[in-house]
Amino acid sequence: MLKELISSRKIKNRVAELGREISTAYAGKEIVMVVLLRGSFVFAADLIRVLEPETVVDFMVVSSYQGENTSGEVRILKDLADNIHGRHILIVEDIVDTGLTLNKILTLLQSRSPQSIAICSMLNKPSRRIQPVDLQYVGFEVEDQFVVGYGLDMDQKYRQLPYIGELV
Ligand code: 5GP
Repeated sequence: MLKELISSRKIKNRVAELGREISTAYAGKEIVMVVLLRGSFVFAADLIRVLEPETVVDFMVVSSYQGENTSGEVRILKDLADNIHGRHILIVEDIVDTGLTLNKILTLLQSRSPQSIAICSMLNKPSRRIQPVDLQYVGFEVEDQFVVGYGLDMDQKYRQLPYIGELV
């Protein structure tokens, strides 16, 4: 059974707030939005439309999960298309759980000498953290529970839900 945790209205309001915050922080700069597929595509699509600074978008495909279980291994299946040297990178993530994925990606992107890197995650699950990660922008915190919807899947399903829910 699916239980609604965060309604689409709450998500919309929070995305608008994040948009204002990020727009202020990056006023006059160009943002390179690095979207981590697949889970972040819905959030990124909403976020980019509330950003005022010029924003370009690039994608990475990262895989670490099979169903509800993490293998602990993070694989980069598709790298960025653009050169990020000297640019302002905003990583857009769906949810930060153990922190392993983002730490791996941060190390990789930092080695390419961007001018700055910040992370915007729709959800944060701090109780599950294995490696600390500095999150500049967070939509909502969730408990130690497996959530789906708004881009997040369970075996590739539920991404289309307009809200964030828990499978119970
Ligand atoms: P981390 O490396 O921080 O443990 O994992 C981050 C990735 O794990 C997320 O991008 C997401 O794909 C997946 N993940 C972690 N927790 C959840 C969850 O509660 N629901 C879903 N659908 N995916 C999750």
